[in-house]
Order: sequence, then C-alpha cells, then structure tokens
Amino acid sequence: MTSAPGDVPAIEFRDVVKRFGDNVVLDGLNFSVAQGDRVTLIGPSGSGKTTILRLLMTLEESNGGLILIDGDPYTHEYKGKKWVEIPEKRRRQVRRRVGMVFQQFNLFPNMTVLENIIEAPMHVLGRSRKDAIARAEELLEQVGMTEKRDFRTTELSGGQQQRVAIARALAMDPEILLLDEVTSALDPEIVADVLEVLRDIAKNTDITMLLVTHEMQFAREVSNRVLMFDHGRIIEEAPPEEIFTDPREERTREFLSAVV
Ligand code: ADP
Repeated sequence: MTSAPGDVPAIEFRDVVKRFGDNVVLDGLNFSVAQGDRVTLIGPSGSGKTTILRLLMTLEESNGGLILIDGDPYTHEYKGKKWVEIPEKRRRQVRRRVGMVFQQFNLFPNMTVLENIIEAPMHVLGRSRKDAIARAEELLEQVGMTEKRDFRTTELSGGQQQRVAIARALAMDPEILLLDEVTSALDPEIVADVLEVLRDIAKNTDITMLLVTHEMQFAREVSNRVLMFDHGRIIEEAPPEEIFTDPREERTREFLSAVV
C-alpha cells in the first residue's frame, strides 16, 4: 500500500547537509518516502546510508536542510522569518513515530526479553504494565520468541536477539520502521529466520519501511523502491526488479556485481 499522489510523504529530506568535521557526508540531499513505501538504500560502504537512518532517529544532528516526518519538521522550522529549533518536547513526539532496528541489536543486557519490550511502551507511551505485557506477548508470538519471554537477552543467540529487537521496535507502534543491516551480524544459517519475520511484517502491516541491507534478494522481495547511493548522493532509483536486473548506471552495475 503506497499513498496516492498529493498525500504528505512519510519521510522527506530537503537539502539535508551532514558533515563530520571536514567530511561532508550529505551535501544537500533530497528524497522522500511515501506512506507505506518500502524503500531499500544500497551503495558502497561510507556512502551515507546509516547516517540517513541515524538522522531520522535524531541520533545525529544535521548541519542544514530540513527533515520532515508526515510533513512535520523534525529539528528546525521557519518561524517569524528565521530558523528556530523545534522544542525538545515536540521533537520527541515526532521521533516517537519512528522505530529502528540496529545491526548490533542494542537490547538492554540486564533485562529479560519481556522487560526489554515493555520498557518504552510503559515509560514513553504511558501504557499500563498489563497492556504493555499483552501487546508484548502478541509480538513475541509474531516473531516466534514466546518461549524465551523470561530469558535474559544475554542468554539468546544473535538471531533470537534480533527477533526481540524487532518486537521491541514494533511495541512502540511506529509508523516508520528503520532497519540498519539487521542481518549483517548474524550467522548465515539464522539470517533466513530474521528475514522471514521481516517479510511477514512487510506483508501484514502498512508500516513505512526504510532499510539498509546487503541482502539483495530480501530487498527485492520486500521493497518497492531502491535508491542507490554513492558519496551521499542518489545516483539511481528504480523498482527492485529493474535496478537488480538492468541498472542504468555503470556505478550501480559495478556495485551490484561486487555484492551479489
Ligand atoms: P554507510 O552506511 O553507507 O556505510 P555511513 O553513513 O555509515 O555510510 O558513513 C558515511 C560517512 O560518514 C563515512 O565516511 C563515515 O566514516 C562517516 N561517519 C559516520 N559516522 C561518523 C561519526 N560518528 N563520526 C565521524 N564520521 C562518521
């Protein structure tokens, strides 16, 4: 399900600049993601893909331009003829619509699986413990982790931890889910389990997804648009069936033949 023309995009980058010291990673990046879109970012290491996800999570601050979520500016707005920072409270409200799953899971190691999942719904969304547990149990079922409910996360394999991390992100009912190379830290034999869980989410929800992955087969199955990045710029964008079989740009062709 993608939005009709004229709908406000779920995500919009307008002339976004991001520098680390002298390293200009994004130099006026423009792109948007429609509601319900599943967009994969591909491109060589260092081309800025993770930085884009981290900006969306406000784990990084941009150095210019605008990032909008559902048309709402995220960090700055133009008010009274000048740029002003969005107050922290409003920023958090926008930020809440976005969930992220990381390459290294980032679970709370001193908590059980269940506690990991109910923590933010209770403390950020103000849900009751009972409601948070009920939702967590549904999600554990969905990711196939019901039996591990009361285990400490340190007792789980990488694939199991990643499934818990996916449940934890979904427990916040995000409108947008960011997936940053979520299978890169996993042993090849368990990658398939995690991909299956994500495939299921893509099929059964209308969450907007923005993913960075080197699993081209997965990208092909779940996404409806692929953006190829090089040095912080989009050099090609197309539906997966086009870009993976007959890319227009030589640079895309080279990249794909190196990773597939
Ligand atoms: P990709 O995800 O495409 O591999 P990244 O977004 O991780 O690319 O990185 C883009 C560039 O930004 C790289 O040159 C990287 O070294 C630099 N970079 C990313 N994060 C930081 C950071 N926290 N401090 C300094 N440089 C960074």
